[in-house]
Amino acid sequence: MNRWSTRGYVFDTGPTLLTMPHVLSRLFVALGERIEDHLQLEPLDPHAEYIYPDGCRIRVPARSEDWLAAVREIAPADAGGARRLHELGERIYRLSEGTFFLNHPLLPFGLPAAGSLRHFPLRHAWGNYAQTVARFVKDPRLRRIYNRYPTYVGSSPYRCPATLLVIPYIEHTFGAWRVKGGMYRIVEALLRLAKERGVEVMAGAAVAEIEGGGERVTGVRLDDGRRLACPVVVFNGDSASLEQMLDGKRRFKPESRSLSGVILLAGLRTALTDWSAHTVVFSADYEREFADLFDRSMLPEDPTVYVYAPRDETMAPPGGQSLFLMANAPGDGLLAWNEAAARVASQRMLERLRRSGLAVLADSLEIFDVWHPGRFEKRFLAPGGAIYGENSHGWRRAFLRPPNRVRGMRGLYCTGGSYHPGGGVPMVLISAEITVRLILRDWGGRA
Ligand SMILES: Cc1cc2nc3c(=O)[nH]c(=O)nc-3n(C[C@H](O)[C@H](O)[C@H](O)COP(=O)(O)OP(=O)(O)OC[C@H]3O[C@@H](n4cnc5c(N)ncnc54)[C@H](O)[C@@H]3O)c2cc1C
Repeated sequence: MNRWSTRGYVFDTGPTLLTMPHVLSRLFVALGERIEDHLQLEPLDPHAEYIYPDGCRIRVPARSEDWLAAVREIAPADAGGARRLHELGERIYRLSEGTFFLNHPLLPFGLPAAGSLRHFPLRHAWGNYAQTVARFVKDPRLRRIYNRYPTYVGSSPYRCPATLLVIPYIEHTFGAWRVKGGMYRIVEALLRLAKERGVEVMAGAAVAEIEGGGERVTGVRLDDGRRLACPVVVFNGDSASLEQMLDGKRRFKPESRSLSGVILLAGLRTALTDWSAHTVVFSADYEREFADLFDRSMLPEDPTVYVYAPRDETMAPPGGQSLFLMANAPGDGLLAWNEAAARVASQRMLERLRRSGLAVLADSLEIFDVWHPGRFEKRFLAPGGAIYGENSHGWRRAFLRPPNRVRGMRGLYCTGGSYHPGGGVPMVLISAEITVRLILRDWGGRA
């Protein structure tokens, strides 16, 4: 999560959409605070507008009942199937609530939770995501909408398990929200509260090594040579760089990386009052796009582009518009990212917008900045620029994410988007809750 701002334009360079706001709210409650005293959360309705290459537009309303009613209008034959997909997502969510969101799957869940595993919707949930969607929904436009959700965890709908149908369920049940002023306001609020409580934050200090005598951690060494001694270390970086931090050897498997992205941050002099806050402009061939990203490790020639156009006076100068455009990109580190590659990527994204009737007018453009996987890798120390660590292809990688405690290294814990239970802001907060519980269990008040 980060922010980039210049000349009155403010941009989130990471997440723009908040789901499961109650999880964030829980963090403020744990601090004895009320979220509404610190952040202004705004619900989005519709969640998004989808634009297809033939000019068709579909708006997805916030409430699931409204969405199912819209499906009845768009493709009456799919109404029952869409409802069943939703019900499947709900069953997976209910199960996860008492199990995966409380603990790591390899640690004991406790009897009631283990009992609920009996109700796991086995027949469909372990199947392939896109094939399951295709079984329930026949309209190609609706299939596309459902097939976009696995990208929320940097994965291909054609390779991940149907358990990820929990994502559309979550979005429709708990809503899609934005934070006034940008998502980075969350960081600022938490930083303020942490400092008030005496936490010392060393922003900008990079950890070069986690030190220990093989069986327990003793502290960390910063890249400027300073050493901090501590019995407990919580690693919040990418799981692929942990081993390097422990033994200095760099190793990660390119084929298991999640997606990265190319992001265009545009500051326009004129507000886009008739654009939805969230728009998804689909490419002509979605399946090919994912084959390009994961089989051929290349940027698709015709990318699907996500557009975030906040109507927020705190994020642009008067009358202006900050615009966030994002296309998926390989996160495997095999492409060389330089200025020329970034230019090609932005041209392809702007061309897709133009062909779909959403031209970003060059004469209104005041600011333009490109973030690409190489820049993400460097800035956030994420190998390949992958956003979610490993992808969720196959049930093992989707469910058995790297654990929150490192076996055989007492005092070392891991949390964040590349660890259990997964990526995205609410999951990262749940990951932190699980990690805190582990530390308290292992150390009591001694840590
Ligand atoms: C472009 C983009 C769009 C996204 N959109 C959404 C969205 O709309 N909604 C959503 O919920 N999620 C979204 N996500 C995903 C979400 O942002 C991540 O899942 C989440 O921020 C991960 O949190 P984290 O704490 O694990 O990692 P991060 O937020 O990446 O924080 C990890 C921090 O650790 C630092 N670090 C790493 N290694 C070291 C080291 N050795 N020493 C010191 N510091 C180190 C990094 O620099 C970084 O600042 C998006 C992400 C990106 C990049």
